Amino acid sequence: MVTSHDRQMFTSHWHSIIPKKLFAEHSIILLKRTEMHASYLSLLASGELAIRIQAAYARLESCDICPLRCGVNRLQGDLGVCKTGVLAQVSSYGPHPGEERPLSGWRGSGTIFFARCNLRCAYCQNADISQLSSGQEVSPAELAGLMLELQGKGCHNINLVSPSHVLPQILAALELAAQGGLTLPLVYNTGGYDSLETLTLLDGVVDIYMPDMKYDDAEVALKYSKVRDYPQVNQAAVLEMQRQVGDLMLDEDGIARRGLLVRHLVLPGGLAGSDSVFKFLAEEVSKNVYLNIMAQYRPAFNAWDYPELNRRIRSEEYRAAIALAKRYGLMRLDE
Ligand code: SF4
Repeated sequence: MVTSHDRQMFTSHWHSIIPKKLFAEHSIILLKRTEMHASYLSLLASGELAIRIQAAYARLESCDICPLRCGVNRLQGDLGVCKTGVLAQVSSYGPHPGEERPLSGWRGSGTIFFARCNLRCAYCQNADISQLSSGQEVSPAELAGLMLELQGKGCHNINLVSPSHVLPQILAALELAAQGGLTLPLVYNTGGYDSLETLTLLDGVVDIYMPDMKYDDAEVALKYSKVRDYPQVNQAAVLEMQRQVGDLMLDEDGIARRGLLVRHLVLPGGLAGSDSVFKFLAEEVSKNVYLNIMAQYRPAFNAWDYPELNRRIRSEEYRAAIALAKRYGLMRLDE
C-alpha cells in the first residue's frame, strides 16, 4: 500500500538530485498541481475528440494508421503486419514501478501493454508480447475500464505501451474514460515508427510522448527491424512530438505532466548510431530533451541469428554513449 511517507521519500530524493540552479540552466519547468489538466479534456468538451475518432476509424478500411500502409481492411477483420483487426489486444496492465522516475513516481505508471507491434525487431526485448502473443481482445468500453481502474489505483498517468497500431481504439476508449472521469495524462510509449498523419490526430490528446530512437542508418534499420525508412520517419515523428508538447515539464513533486521523453537503447558495436541520434536531438530537437540512454540490451527473440547482436553491451560502450550525449550538451539524462 502506498503511503504519504512514500511520497515524501520520492519528492525529497528528487529534490536532492536536481539542484535548484539546474532548473534555470536547463529550463526544467515546474507546474503547480492547480495548473494541470489533461489535454484531451478540452477536445472532449468541444466535440473535437469525437471527430478525431471518426477520422481514425475511417483509416482502418484501407489501413494506413502507421507508415507501413498495409492497405488491409481491418474493419472487416483483415490483418496487416501488426496482426490486429478492429479490436485492440491487451497483454497486461497495471501500476508499473520501473519506468522512468518522473513517470513511475511513488504510485507507479499506469501501463497498458498492447499486444503486437508495427515493428519486427530481430532482438525485441518484449517479443512474447509484441510478436508471439495475441493478448486479449478488448472493446473500447473495456479498454476505458482499464484506464479508469488504473486511475483508481492511484497511478500518475496512463502509459500506452506499443500504441501505434491501435490509435483508433485508444481514442474511442479515451472518450468513454474521460466521460467516466479520467483526468490522468496519457503517455504515448512508442517504438518511434509513427506517421505524421497519425500524430496529427493526437495533437491535443497526448500529454507525454515517449518515443524510441533506435537507429540512424537505413540499412541497419532494414536489417534488424525490417523498415528501411525508420530513421527518416522516426526523426520526423520526434520533431512533430516536440512541436506538440515541448520539453518535459514536471510538477512540484517531480512527476511528468507534459512533454517529450526519448529512449535510446544502446546496441552492441555501435549499431544504434548513438552519435548521430544525440547530434540530431541536440541540434534539431532541444538540448533540454529528457533522454533515457538504456543499457539493458540482451540477446532475445531472433538476435541469435545475428552474431553481432549476440552479446550484452559492454560497460565501456554504455559509458561512451553517456559521454557522447553530454558532449552534445544533452544534460537531462534519466538516472
Ligand atoms: S497499423 Fe498494422 S495494418 Fe495498419 S499499416 Fe500499420 S502494420 Fe499495417
